[in-house]
Amino acid sequence: MKFVNSYKDKMRKYNEEHNLTYYIDTMGCQMNENDSLKYAGILEGMGFKKGNEDTANVYVFNTCCVRENAENTLFGRLGMLKRRKINNEEIYIAIVGCMTQQEHILEKIKKSYRFVDIVLGTSCMSIFPEKLYDTIVNDKKKIEYIDVSNNLEEDVPIVYEDKYKASVSIIYGCNNFCTYCIVPYVRGRERSRKPEDIINDVKRLAKEGYKEIMLLGQNVNSYGNDFEEKYTFPMLLKDLEKVEGIEIIRFMSPHPKDFKDDLIEVIKNSKKVARQIHLPLQSGNTEILKKMNRRYTKEEYIDLALKLKEIPDISLSTDIIVGFPNETEEQFLDTLDVVRKVEFDQIYMFIYSKRTGTIAAKMEDEVTYDEKVDRLERLKKLYEETLPKLNAKMIGKEYKLLVEGKSKNNNKLYTGRTSQNKVVVFEATNNDVGKVVNVKIDSEHLWYLKGSIVR
Ligand code: SF4
Repeated sequence: MKFVNSYKDKMRKYNEEHNLTYYIDTMGCQMNENDSLKYAGILEGMGFKKGNEDTANVYVFNTCCVRENAENTLFGRLGMLKRRKINNEEIYIAIVGCMTQQEHILEKIKKSYRFVDIVLGTSCMSIFPEKLYDTIVNDKKKIEYIDVSNNLEEDVPIVYEDKYKASVSIIYGCNNFCTYCIVPYVRGRERSRKPEDIINDVKRLAKEGYKEIMLLGQNVNSYGNDFEEKYTFPMLLKDLEKVEGIEIIRFMSPHPKDFKDDLIEVIKNSKKVARQIHLPLQSGNTEILKKMNRRYTKEEYIDLALKLKEIPDISLSTDIIVGFPNETEEQFLDTLDVVRKVEFDQIYMFIYSKRTGTIAAKMEDEVTYDEKVDRLERLKKLYEETLPKLNAKMIGKEYKLLVEGKSKNNNKLYTGRTSQNKVVVFEATNNDVGKVVNVKIDSEHLWYLKGSIVR
């Protein structure tokens, strides 16, 4: 469905006199961040200027329901905005994204947060301009839930904040129903974007000077499964490799069960696909993996990870959940065993948290919170022991990276990420920013490396 904003001109006209500003509060994953850039594109197209958190007129919450604390964050922030409404400030509040697709949240908003103006689910960008115009200009407000979660919206304007790196969604939704995850219920079934739409987006970005792209999807390697004619994720990578100007291609996240040899071959032979793969493990125990409905075993995961590690200079990152319902000590030790064998460069680790509406939320759980915290600490310790060893292997070698700008912690130094997604700081000049340079690694400092540009 092509995105058409028939309210653009009318709203621009209104904004010429009223100068309204917007602020977008984004929670959750990179898919949500990408959606927020599109909301910014829609708003700026309608004449709204970017404002700040304390004074903006249009406040958009782009919500997530993967982590429990996101709910508390949303309702806490709504409470603060209520004061501005009571003080008769000109403020309009929209809540969009995953959280609004959950019935109990919608009921809570309707009951206790009636000052909210617009509530829309995922894939509702086509409706957003009309709702916003009606709220602001026609003073019409109605909290309603609109289910268009299976839409595929094309040509939505987008405002990137970075000048050299951009994200491009390639597939929406998920068919996997991992038992702990709410995503398939709130983002709908898998819908792959047409290859030509993605390739055109990437060509346009290259023309605008972008050097690095991140391909996004809940499960990128099931891209194309919904097409009648065969066109797969490895085929898409090969086509994108041909786009001149793009130098680094990353993707997030693949599912281990769909990671086949043809994808490994494409990565191995590519000059642009990053030498970094995010391969979510979740648990290292086969029984727990079965309860999670992950559809791979401990052994299958290790085989795949070690096969990937044969690609020269590759780095692996992963997600791990500790304390899944009734996870035993022995089962947790399997997770540590996989971490020891695979040696991940980055681990995003979480204590299991119940999401209402998922199968795992109904599972009995006798593991205490203290035990879960203890497991998380032990996992963290093991990871921090492994990391310096992996970093040290990079010392003395040269890596290509995009100079992103000044380091946040030391404004005399500049920063960038290697293809392996390692942060490197080095001396450079403003002229180097936006260029791809070779950097030699001099030393490792756990979370970052120090290097020098090879001129
Ligand atoms: S693959 Fe599993 S964890 Fe990932 S989005 Fe789909 S259901 Fe959730």
